[in-house]
Amino acid sequence: MKAIVVKPGTPGVSIMDRKEPVPAKDEILLKPLLVGICGTDREIISAYYGEAPAGEEYLTLGHESLCVVEEPGRSSLHKGDLVIPTVRRGCGECWSCLHGQSDMCFTGRYKERGIKGLNGYNCELVAEVQDYLAPVPSGLGDAAVLTEPMTIGEKAIIQSISLQQRIKWDCGGDFSCRKALVLGTGPVGMLAALAARIRGFQVWAADRHDDTTLRARLLSSAGIKHFNSMSGSIEELSRTVGKFDFIVEATGDAIVGLDSVPALAANGIMALTGIPGGAQSYQMPAVQIMRSIVLNNAIVVGIVNANISYFKTALMDMVEINRRFPGILDKILSHRFKPEDFSRAFSIRDSDVIKVAIDWRGA
Ligand SMILES: [Zn+2]
Ligand SMILES: [Zn+2]
Repeated sequence: MKAIVVKPGTPGVSIMDRKEPVPAKDEILLKPLLVGICGTDREIISAYYGEAPAGEEYLTLGHESLCVVEEPGRSSLHKGDLVIPTVRRGCGECWSCLHGQSDMCFTGRYKERGIKGLNGYNCELVAEVQDYLAPVPSGLGDAAVLTEPMTIGEKAIIQSISLQQRIKWDCGGDFSCRKALVLGTGPVGMLAALAARIRGFQVWAADRHDDTTLRARLLSSAGIKHFNSMSGSIEELSRTVGKFDFIVEATGDAIVGLDSVPALAANGIMALTGIPGGAQSYQMPAVQIMRSIVLNNAIVVGIVNANISYFKTALMDMVEINRRFPGILDKILSHRFKPEDFSRAFSIRDSDVIKVAIDWRGA
């Protein structure tokens, strides 16, 4: 079968023939339909990380997938069911991994499909056990491939709400009295903004573009206010509209993230989801940042990876997003390429490119 692969340690990506998986007796044979591409894939292609399965030279790329059941085996699924596989497989040793929370692994000895030690989904067939598959509700269709990037915002919101049980944070059933700011309008940022919006938050989303981009127009169609950070700082924004109860950082830029801490309101929480690359050190207003954390009882929390519970919540929320803002998710899935056009798929960059996916149907 065809597979899009990297040779970890060597920059570059190619398509090659690989052996088809033979499902073990508790496994289900799946056919990937769409596989999303993100910055993690580009970093693996650049050989910043990525690890082939033990004993193999190549790693099949792809961790954001929408699959169809080909052979259900002994599972309760049926041929033709749509499912979203999760990414991380626990270490099998620590409390978190043994209790369904591999996203909170203590040892770091987990594996991740398409990233670390396990082949991913950019290929014609994969085998997986049912425990790692979230069923796709009917009516969601291709947009379901956005589930994995959506889980990051879901985890940020769900964990923030849980951490904020230290105070009265909700507004009597929803969060309409709370202001949220999402930094970055890539797929993770846009989906986090929508997840906050359907919970009632007043939401602002900031990027470095004016209001005319597809992203800005889609966000404003969902009642999310767009802020162009080239026109002013986040601090200036917070002086105009008030400080934020909840900030989600989704740019991966350390300065953008930490500089925004003083925009947190009293008892506010900031969830950092981006992973800065490189090893630069920055000049930053450390005194102002630490003062505002302490004087505001602020929380700054790191958010990475997601267990299957966040996949299931993301899928439910995407149904609600589609109901409230019809068509918005299909527009976030802005570009699709055939597997043989992989090199264009991994390199295309434009302000109107939001989520790119490889379409394996007909491969
Ligand atoms: Zn990704
Ligand atoms: Zn673990």
